[in-house]
Amino acid sequence: MKIGIIGGGQLGRMLALAGTPLGQQFAFLDPASDACAAALGEHLCAAYDDREQLRQLAEDADVVTFEFESVPAETVAFLEQHVPVFPNAESLRIARDRWFEKSMFRELGIPTPEFADIQCQADLNNAVQNIGLPAVLKTRTLGYDGKGQKLLRQPEDVIDAFAELGSVPCILEGFVPFTGEVSLVAVRSRDGDTRCYPLVHNTHEQGILRLSVASTEHPLQAQAENYAGRVLDKLNYVGVLAFEFFEVDGGLKANEIAPRVHNSGHWTIEGAECSQFENHLRAIAGLPLGSTAKVGESAMLNFIGEVPAVAKVTAIPDCHLHHYGKEFKPGRKVGHATLRCTDAAVLQSRIAEVQALID
Ligand code: AMP
Repeated sequence: MKIGIIGGGQLGRMLALAGTPLGQQFAFLDPASDACAAALGEHLCAAYDDREQLRQLAEDADVVTFEFESVPAETVAFLEQHVPVFPNAESLRIARDRWFEKSMFRELGIPTPEFADIQCQADLNNAVQNIGLPAVLKTRTLGYDGKGQKLLRQPEDVIDAFAELGSVPCILEGFVPFTGEVSLVAVRSRDGDTRCYPLVHNTHEQGILRLSVASTEHPLQAQAENYAGRVLDKLNYVGVLAFEFFEVDGGLKANEIAPRVHNSGHWTIEGAECSQFENHLRAIAGLPLGSTAKVGESAMLNFIGEVPAVAKVTAIPDCHLHHYGKEFKPGRKVGHATLRCTDAAVLQSRIAEVQALID
């Protein structure tokens, strides 16, 4: 079976690494000549709205999927006419726009921060009156890794905030005094079978994920699975979906969803019976899902900007290196390490060993 992937970055690369043993082949559409997934399949080097290359991809592939959500809507609509596409266009439409996303949470009764649609500075001034400060202004689309957002602490911060974010449609969210950030990676098959990985604790710095630690019997696991199930069923979703939550007042508030394999699920490559990448491929290919159970205590640390010396990373026991083969650049995710240990205390010391290399 041939899988077409829109995007040829590290997520596409890790999908291909997981799917090759299943006998799958891969083709990637990505305008970057140095797309790092290209080493693992055919590379259609073209813009995401290039009709000729999209037609070629649709003809060659048995099924098409995505490694990022901000794919042009016309691209998805065009592909859907020619080839099965998962997740579906509606899932991408909702997930790429924070207003649609949060409105869906509200409609499904899933707690989320207070929010308001912002089309101009006057909207922002009004919304701040209702929601109060501190609050977070975010562009509705195209924000990632903390980009496209601004924390408003005091009235002076509000004055030019809409222009500072580029005078594009935004939402204002109430600031959540969270005690932790967790994510749930869930997968739903073509026939509606749904499975979830254990909740993961995430630590961000400057808006970029640094560390994910898979939990054991998290008290909010059932609540998170319940919320994710509502979204998956509502969207008739097929594939992996990641759900990011704030932990606050002993419960969860939904932050956002990502309609794809997710950085906070990379630990599953070594840390779970069947990784998020393999399960995504199984789901979209119409295969039975694999077990999402943890196999030990597991964590993932991102390498941002550069990968430490390979010999040093691989010298750490229980440590698995994933080097994405990308050019090193400040702020860019270029690799990660997964740790899988037999007990939680050892895991903590291994995390410290990897962190020492990063520092
Ligand atoms: P996002 O791109 O929405 O995931 O936001 C990036 C990070 O900013 C989150 O992981 C949080 O650490 C922080 N953040 C986003 N929205 C809020 C909020 N409403 N309240 C508090 N912190 C937030």
